[in-house]
Amino acid sequence: MTAATIDGKVFAEGLRERVAAAVPDFQAATGRAPGLAVVLVGEDPASAVYVRSKGKATLAAGMESFEHRLDATTGQDDLLALIGRLNADEAVDGILVQLPLPPQIDEKAVLAAIDPDKDVDGFHVVNAGRLAVGEEGLVPCTPLGCLMLLKDRLGELSGLEAVVIGRSNIVGKPMAQLLLRESCTVTIAHSRTRDLPGVVRRADIVVAAVGRPEMVTGDWLKPGATVIDVGINRIAAGEGKTRLVGDVDFASAAAVAGAITPVPGGVGPMTIAVLLRNTVVAAFARAGLTAPAGL
Ligand code: NAD
Repeated sequence: MTAATIDGKVFAEGLRERVAAAVPDFQAATGRAPGLAVVLVGEDPASAVYVRSKGKATLAAGMESFEHRLDATTGQDDLLALIGRLNADEAVDGILVQLPLPPQIDEKAVLAAIDPDKDVDGFHVVNAGRLAVGEEGLVPCTPLGCLMLLKDRLGELSGLEAVVIGRSNIVGKPMAQLLLRESCTVTIAHSRTRDLPGVVRRADIVVAAVGRPEMVTGDWLKPGATVIDVGINRIAAGEGKTRLVGDVDFASAAAVAGAITPVPGGVGPMTIAVLLRNTVVAAFARAGLTAPAGL
C-alpha cells in the first residue's frame, strides 16, 4: 500500500483565499480591515523570520499588520503595558506574542494579559477552558490546521480511534480536545507512555507532535491509518548540509498508512493560514457579526 500525500500547501492556499474573500465583507460592514498585531521581543533569528512571514501573509490577505519589535532587554512591565494598549486598540483584532520570550519575562503572565477575544494563538487559559468545555473560542493554530486536514481527508471523524503523541499546551493537548469534540476515541501518548508502538498501532488517526526526528516508523501503524506529522526537525544530510524531517519516518510510514502529511509541505503551511483565519474570525466576533461559512 502506498499512502496518499495530504498536501497542506494546497489546502493552506485555499484557506488563505477564503480568508482574503471575507475581508471586504468585514470592511464593508465596519469601515476598516481586520488587524493583527505581532510582538517580537529580542532578535532570535528564527522568530524574526516567523514574524516577517506572518506580517507579509497578513498584508497579502488584505488585512492590517502591526509589528512591534522590542529590544531583548525589554522588561516585563513595558511588555505588559504594550499588551494593554493593544487590548484597548479598536483597530487590533488579534494579538500574537512571538515565543520564546527572553528569560526576564514571565511567559504565563504575558499570555494571561492578552484579551482572550484577541488571543489568535489560542494560548490564553480562557480559550483553553472554552475548548475543554466545548464553548466557542479561539483555538491554537497548528492543531486546528491538523483538524482541518483530517476532516478534508476523512470527512466524518466520529468513532475513530485517534492517538496524539505529545502533550504540549500548544499542540498535543488542544489537538486531543479537538478530536474529542469530533467524537473520536482519543489517547494522548507522551514520553512516559509504555509500549508506544502498541498504542499507536490501534489508531485510525495518528498525530505526531514530539520533536524527535523520524521516530514513528511504518511498523507502528495500523494499515490504512491517516498520519499527521507535526514535527519539524532539522537533521544533518551529509557534506555539511541539513534537511527538514518530521517525527514520522515518511518512507516506511507511507508504505503502510492510507494518507500522510509530508514534511515540509504538510502541517507547516497550515499554521500561518489558520492564524489569518483566527484573526478574521476574531474580527467578526468582536464586531458582533457572523463570519462567512467555510473559514
Ligand atoms: P514540546 O517539546 O512542547 O512537546 C513534545 C511532547 O512530546 C511532550 O509532551 C513529550 O511528552 C512528548 N515526547 C517527548 N519524547 C517522547 C517520546 N520519546 N515518546 C513519546 N512522546 C514523547 O513540543 P511541541 O511544541 O508540542 O512541538 C512538537 C513538534 O512539533 C516539534 O518538532 C515542533 O517543532 C513541531 N511544531 C510544528 C509546528 C508547525 O507549524 N508545523 C507548530 C508547533 C510545533
